[in-house]
Amino acid sequence: MNPKETQLIINRVYNSALPEPGDLVKLLNLDYAASRSLFVFADQVRERFVGDEILIRGIVEVSNYCRNNCAYCGLNRGNLQLPRYRLSEAEIMECVGRIYETGIKTVVMQSGEDEGFDPRWLASLIKRIKHKYNLAITLSVGETSRENYRLWKFAGAERFLMKIETTDRDLYQSLHPGMSLQNRVRCLHNHDELGYQTGSGCMIGLPGQTPMTLASDLQFFKKMDFDMLGIGPFIPHPETPLGNIPAGNMETVYKMLALARIVSRRTHLPATTAVSTLSGREATRTALQVGANVVMINFTPEKYHHLYEIYPRRKGVSEWEELSDLENIAMELGRKVNYSKGDAIKNVKEYGFAVN
Ligand code: SAH
Repeated sequence: MNPKETQLIINRVYNSALPEPGDLVKLLNLDYAASRSLFVFADQVRERFVGDEILIRGIVEVSNYCRNNCAYCGLNRGNLQLPRYRLSEAEIMECVGRIYETGIKTVVMQSGEDEGFDPRWLASLIKRIKHKYNLAITLSVGETSRENYRLWKFAGAERFLMKIETTDRDLYQSLHPGMSLQNRVRCLHNHDELGYQTGSGCMIGLPGQTPMTLASDLQFFKKMDFDMLGIGPFIPHPETPLGNIPAGNMETVYKMLALARIVSRRTHLPATTAVSTLSGREATRTALQVGANVVMINFTPEKYHHLYEIYPRRKGVSEWEELSDLENIAMELGRKVNYSKGDAIKNVKEYGFAVN
């Protein structure tokens, strides 16, 4: 494809109500040099629709117990090597306090699907956090009933994050024994109906995934109009069935971030932890230059940090070190860290925008 043709397809994808899979596949197949124009365009869309500021979230990994057996995830119940932990209410409040002290105003509570949690307990914890601190709460605790989602929404949680992981039905089925794509989609609809700010996303580099699969993920994101999209590389974990599969390709991750930005415009797009785990600080920087506008910082107590091992982790640095490094990255990029709640950007008037 010549540069003019590439730009034409980028513009078509940007302007389309539902981009053609063929166009998306062509862009996903661009070689390294040609994908520059995709990245530059995505960066401009990012600037236009969500601005220059980098939003920041604090994450607490509340439990690594899980009833599921996802083939990629080190927390899967078949991993008998992993010592399990569940934070107490006091420990969670302590983490939330540390988040608040830094000035960050969003706490993300993430967890395996822990059957030891009473949904009412989580609801009372949400209320306690909301009562004590002026913080936004994002939940990322997996699949459950509409009733439970409702309970937590009424308790005060305002956002929910649940990646679809892949929209390919067969691939989804093979990776998630006993689960279904249909139920995952049901959960996402529940979040939306209940008034959560909704987040989803996918993993890059799953075995059998093709550019066509990723194109269909992007179409799904467009149709569902998510407020957040977490996109990151698959990272093999040795104690899982996919332990010998190579990690996702970072070039593809960057292209997917860029396309997610172009397709979903106003969504919040983190430079995910998986990105920095696999490829370090430089990768976080790059992600922020190809569409991303959010970074999450880990506040799980240090003694549990290595146990939330969805994939093998780098040795954690303190949250203050992470924060100061993020400030440096922002400065290097001529951008700023924004410590506000960083709500979904809704109802912003759209206007046409073409890059020549
Ligand atoms: N139980 C919750 C949270 C899951 S962990 C839920 O189902 O939503 C958060 C995310 O980690 C998952 O959505 C998945 O995309 C990612 N993840 C898990 N294992 C991974 C791996 N080996 N490599 C990369 N990402 C992984």
